[in-house]
Amino acid sequence: LFGTKNLWRFILIPGNTDLIKQINETRVLNIIRQKVSISRVSLAKLTALNPSTVTDIITRLTDQGAIEEVGMGNSTGGRKPQMIRLNPKSFLYAGVYIHKHVYCILMDIYGQVYSKMDFLLSDPEKLTLSNIAVYIRKVAEQAGVPISNLRGIGMGFPGQVDSQYGIVKFAPHINWQNVAIKEFLEKELQASVFVDNGMKATALGECWFGAEKGLSDFVLLNISDGIGSALVINNRIYRGLNQQAGELGHNYLLGNISPAGTNLCRCGKKGCLETVASQRAIVERFVNAAGADPETNTPDILNKIFLSWKNRKEPGCEIIDQAAFYLGITIANILNFLDPQKIIITGSVVEAGGDEFLARVLEFAKEHTFGFIDSSRVIISSLGPYRYAIGAATLGMHHLFKAGIQDNDDLELMV
Ligand SMILES: [Zn+2]
Repeated sequence: LFGTKNLWRFILIPGNTDLIKQINETRVLNIIRQKVSISRVSLAKLTALNPSTVTDIITRLTDQGAIEEVGMGNSTGGRKPQMIRLNPKSFLYAGVYIHKHVYCILMDIYGQVYSKMDFLLSDPEKLTLSNIAVYIRKVAEQAGVPISNLRGIGMGFPGQVDSQYGIVKFAPHINWQNVAIKEFLEKELQASVFVDNGMKATALGECWFGAEKGLSDFVLLNISDGIGSALVINNRIYRGLNQQAGELGHNYLLGNISPAGTNLCRCGKKGCLETVASQRAIVERFVNAAGADPETNTPDILNKIFLSWKNRKEPGCEIIDQAAFYLGITIANILNFLDPQKIIITGSVVEAGGDEFLARVLEFAKEHTFGFIDSSRVIISSLGPYRYAIGAATLGMHHLFKAGIQDNDDLELMV
């Protein structure tokens, strides 16, 4: 009669008053957040809870400073109702994304940014846990917010992350293996810390703050120094057995007729998508072919390559056309295989290439997609370069707002 999930819910809830309290509180918080401001009466209706239960929860949350009164609402016959809302200052989160380039942000539950900073690591392999604690203290100090006022600190790392225990299993860019960052930072900063793979965190950030809200099935495709992706299927981040789902950059696409100048992939194999369409590959191939000065910084070279592509000048023209072709094939494969609502594209390559480059990619995608595709299904992310830090901060928000609602499944997005 019941699926395992429903049975679990059925057995667990009646015996555990703390859990019921938590579930009800989360439900109230979620509805207030979604409605931005709401009256107590509407809240009781929407939560389907007993009005006295709602009053108790609101009293408790108001005492904690989590909820505040915000003017009168419209009357529906009687006197005007007092409206309440979440106090944004009570829902502050820090987010840090660690790559060769570090992004830090401090923001509230509604996406208001209080401070941010980003910088290049001079020697990524020398990065320590204490360095990261310093970054967090700095971004909090810039915002004038004590660490103790933060509801959570989120961390995103490229590579393999055990999100449950907050351990960075393998992050080759900073040469970390099995680093228990959650444990360290929670002790050091006396705050709740959440850790996940950077792409998966960024997908959460898109759910909460991206231009396309309410997506339940989408793919985030990041084309930067490397190529990675995150899958959200039926409102859940799909992780795979080894938490490795989404490694699209290492799809074997180039075969035995690899374009000239494509080398061995950093994964040790040949023919990966990354060896032709990542920023690293594009810049390397251009530098090799044009003899450009390798001292010139990468964003400048990338812009130069796209300029030569737009003017149909070699060698940039062929290099970018080939990148667009293989990205087009990849997008067609995603559409054919998963049929998601959207593919959201991020990363330095599309940022440098812009709409013109995306249009070229989509031309190739259309040639290889089964059936009709509407171009609006593939979009460039609206979150900008801080998207990784926003995603990291969202890890903490996600944790609070789904707490207690899901059965034994901690991956529901609840947006
Ligand atoms: Zn590879």
